Amino acid sequence: MHWADAFFKDNSDETISTGISPSGPIHIGNMREILTGDILFKASLRKGKNSRFIYLCDDADPLRKVYPFLPESYIQHVGKPLYKIPSPDGNGVYSEYFLRPFLKTLDILNVKVEVIRSSSLYSSGVMSEAIRIIFENYRKVSEILREISGRELSAEWAPFNPECESCGRITTTSVEKLSYPVLTYRCRCGFSGQVDVTKGGGKLPWRLEWPAKWFALGVTTEPFGKDHGASGGSYDTGARIATEIFRINPPKPLMFERILLKGVGVMHSSTGVNIAANEFIENAPAETLRFLMSKNQPSRHINFDPGIGLLNITDEIEKYKRAYFGTDNVSEENLESVLLYSSLSDTIEKPLGISFRHLVTLVQIYSDNSSILKIAGKSVEDTERLIKLIEVARKWVAKYAPEELLFKLTPVGTSVKLNEMEKNFLQMLKEGLAETEWIPEGIHNCIHESIKKSGIDQENGFSVIYRILINKQKGPRLGYFLFGLGREFVEGRINDCL
Ligand SMILES: [Zn+2]
Repeated sequence: MHWADAFFKDNSDETISTGISPSGPIHIGNMREILTGDILFKASLRKGKNSRFIYLCDDADPLRKVYPFLPESYIQHVGKPLYKIPSPDGNGVYSEYFLRPFLKTLDILNVKVEVIRSSSLYSSGVMSEAIRIIFENYRKVSEILREISGRELSAEWAPFNPECESCGRITTTSVEKLSYPVLTYRCRCGFSGQVDVTKGGGKLPWRLEWPAKWFALGVTTEPFGKDHGASGGSYDTGARIATEIFRINPPKPLMFERILLKGVGVMHSSTGVNIAANEFIENAPAETLRFLMSKNQPSRHINFDPGIGLLNITDEIEKYKRAYFGTDNVSEENLESVLLYSSLSDTIEKPLGISFRHLVTLVQIYSDNSSILKIAGKSVEDTERLIKLIEVARKWVAKYAPEELLFKLTPVGTSVKLNEMEKNFLQMLKEGLAETEWIPEGIHNCIHESIKKSGIDQENGFSVIYRILINKQKGPRLGYFLFGLGREFVEGRINDCL
C-alpha cells in the first residue's frame, strides 16, 4: 500500500497541520513538510474522512540573525518578530515578503491549504486558553522539559517570551512576575512593563507553542522533520505536555527524512545555499517535486538534483503514466496512488507523448515553437500542454542544464578533420540513412548497423557524429537527436565532412 494510504488506521476526522517559518526564502528542502502534509490530506479525503489541512506560518518567530541575504542594517531587527520587521524590498513586512512566493508555489503544486499566521493566533485569543493552562501548570511543565530534554532550564527561563514595548524584541525580555492574563517583564534594553498575553504581545517558547497549537486547533496529524523527532526532542516534550497538561492525545506523527541537494547536502534558509521553491517551480516541471515526495517513503532521504537527475525523474513520470494507461510496464504496486498524489490537478494526467529530455534537445535546435510543434506534434495530442512544457524546457536549459547537455549546432559548410576509418563509417552511415525511414528508432538502428559494418569502435562511432554536428564528444541520445535535426541537416553535415 502507498505510505499515505497506509497511514490512517480509522475513519475519524483529521486536522493535519504543518508549520514552516518564513524567516527566509522557502526552499526545496522545506517542501517535504508541506507536500507530505498535502499527500496525507489527499489520502484522508480519499478514505472518506472529513479533513482539514492547515499551514501554520510562524511569523511570530523572532529574526535570529542577519542572514547572508539581508543587508547589515538588519542587525537592528534581530530579536523582533518577523511580522513586525520591514520587508527587504521596502514593501510591507518581512514574513509576508517570503510567504507570498511560497503561496504562489503551493497554488502551482495543487496544494490547497488553510494558511494561519501564528501572530493572529496570539492576537485573536485562540491561544489564550492554552497559555492559561501552561501558566497554571508552570512547575509541572518545566519539570517535563527538564526530564525529557535532559537539560536544566536557565534561571531566566519562563513559559512565555514577552515582546518589549520599547525595543520590540522578544529575545531580550525576562518575566518578572508570571500571572494570567497580564504579566510583568523587564528587558535588557532597560525597559520594564506589563503585557496582556491574550492580546498578542509575545509568544510561547517553541517547545510549548507546538503542543499549545495542537490543543488550540485540535491537530490530529502532523508530519515533521527528524530534527524535531529525535529522542528528547520537541515532539517528545510536546507529546508529554499534550497528554499530561492539556489532557489531549498528541497528533499522530509522521517523521520524514531530509531532501539533500546534489553537491551541497542539507539545505538551510539561513546560509543561502539552497534552491528557493518558487524559483525551481518556475524553471522546471513542477510535478517532479510532488512525484519525489509521493513515490519515496518519508523515511528515505531524497537526493535532489535539478540537472541530469531531474531529466531522469521526468522520464520516470512519463513511464509511470504510460504504465497506468496500459502502454508500458513498471514494477510499482502503488502506481495509481503515486500518480494521483503527484498530480498538479486532481486527476491522473495522460502521458504527453514526448519526453522532457527530448524537448530539452529540441529547444536548443529551434528558437521558434512552431518547428518543435511540427516535429513533436505527431506523437502529442495535447498541444496546449506541449507548448507550456516547451517554455519550461527553455527556462530549464537556461537555469539548470549542466554543461554536458548544452550544445550549439555546427553551421552547414564547416569541415571537421576525420581519419580514414571515421570517414569510412560516415560513408556507410550516409548510405544507410538514405534507405532508412526518418523515425528515431530507425535512425538509432541504422547508426548501430553502420558502426558494426564499418568496424569502428562503438564509442568512437558515436563521437564522430557528435563532433560533426555539435563539435563535442558526447551529446543527446542520437536517434531522437538526429530525428529532431531533420534529414536534410544531418545529410548536409555528413556531406560537408566526407
Ligand atoms: Zn527592550
